[in-house]
Amino acid sequence: MKKFAFTLLLMLFVLVLPEHGQAAAANNKIFLDGKELTAGQSAPVENVGGSVMVPLRMISENLGYKVDWDQPSKTVTIAQQLTTVKLVVDQTAASVDDKTVILTNAPINRNGTTLVPIRFISEQFGLTVSWDNTQKIVTLITPETGGSNTGSGSGSADGGSTVVVPPAEPAKDLTMVNGISFNENRLTIAMEGNAVPKVSKVSGPDRIVIDLENATFSDLFGSGQVLDPNLNGSLAVTGYPDVTAVRYSLYSTSPYTVRFVIDTTSSKNYSVEVSGDTSRLVVVDLNAVTTDNPSTQPGNNGRKLVVLDAGHGAKDSGAVGVTGKYEKNFNLAIVLKTAELLKKENNVDVVLTRSDDTFLELKDRAAIANNLNADLFISVHANSSSSSAASGTETYYQRESSKALANVMQKYLVQSTGLSNRGVRYGNFHVIRETKMPAVLLEAGYLSNKGDESVLFKDDVQNKIAEGIVSGIKEYLGLK
Ligand SMILES: [Zn+2]
Repeated sequence: MKKFAFTLLLMLFVLVLPEHGQAAAANNKIFLDGKELTAGQSAPVENVGGSVMVPLRMISENLGYKVDWDQPSKTVTIAQQLTTVKLVVDQTAASVDDKTVILTNAPINRNGTTLVPIRFISEQFGLTVSWDNTQKIVTLITPETGGSNTGSGSGSADGGSTVVVPPAEPAKDLTMVNGISFNENRLTIAMEGNAVPKVSKVSGPDRIVIDLENATFSDLFGSGQVLDPNLNGSLAVTGYPDVTAVRYSLYSTSPYTVRFVIDTTSSKNYSVEVSGDTSRLVVVDLNAVTTDNPSTQPGNNGRKLVVLDAGHGAKDSGAVGVTGKYEKNFNLAIVLKTAELLKKENNVDVVLTRSDDTFLELKDRAAIANNLNADLFISVHANSSSSSAASGTETYYQRESSKALANVMQKYLVQSTGLSNRGVRYGNFHVIRETKMPAVLLEAGYLSNKGDESVLFKDDVQNKIAEGIVSGIKEYLGLK
């Protein structure tokens, strides 16, 4: 029997010897557990419709599986202990232990060499395969128990025809990582499968680590990104001051774990979103406010976080009063005074969208509150009208969930300005529409009205307004 198998193997070698020298496929390299398989140097490795096809000879010589070839039926039989795989050239129907399976791509014949789909075969025997299309590298990884079989057969008396790889647990239901990108300060990972990302922040040096358990890189990943023979690689990141590099690797094979590392210049906060069912996108977003220590992040430890927004700023003066006073300065004065008072409160943290005469886009104001997951958003303004007679205090809400806050704030605001009560109103303003927490926009009075303007720029009135805002916040939040 041994002699018969040896004869078959000899026939096989004759069949698969390349006929046209080494030039055409000289760039292809095959690595098994990080070691290059020299026997594969002269063999053509092809990527056919997304399937990496390798010479049958590689299977027998390097993986040590028993390979038989039946010329009349063009059938390849590959066996390793209890598993037997049969494939037929140009047929997508194959069998594994007498069960029929359909291949994505059939084995093919190239100038007398039979090429077989390496992923399919390796998976039947518990190996993992990756294909780096840029570098034309096939990477095979044997399970931990089978890792010492590189070059097996060399010590065998009959030329390796009966050497087998020890049994291994086939990798089941692995999530395949298909690609990554880093854009807009976000790392996006595309994958097929159910792996759930575990994300953590690590210091010394600062980095964000994303682990996908029960996952590995697909052939597709290797065609889009560089993977070295040990399944490590990195993504070029330029133009992002907070991020120096994005690295990735097959971190473990027990269990299979793909690890991504975002190297950051400082401790960065992030958010994680997973979308899709089995074709998933994982987005790790670094567009969050940076703090040195997450435990000191505003709003933590049961404290309420209030974002105060002084309307307008810098080139955007807001309304201009009848005596030439600018709304932006009134807004800032109120917000600074309110913040001073709120800092004395034990249960409230306060964040200002601006604390000096700077310009901010409306979306950035809303984003500050949303990124911080603030509990309240209060935007301070003063109004203007073409009618100089228009006078009084208003509070605006946009979403129904903000109406209760508007009612409370208006009550205190009217008391502190002493101006007429123009009531709580609906207003479709960006900052109270795009924020995700109860949000109001205060119009303390009309700068186009001489009386209102005079009142609003008095220091003692501004102090009262700040006190009124604090009272409203505390009542709404139920704080003593
Ligand atoms: Zn305004």
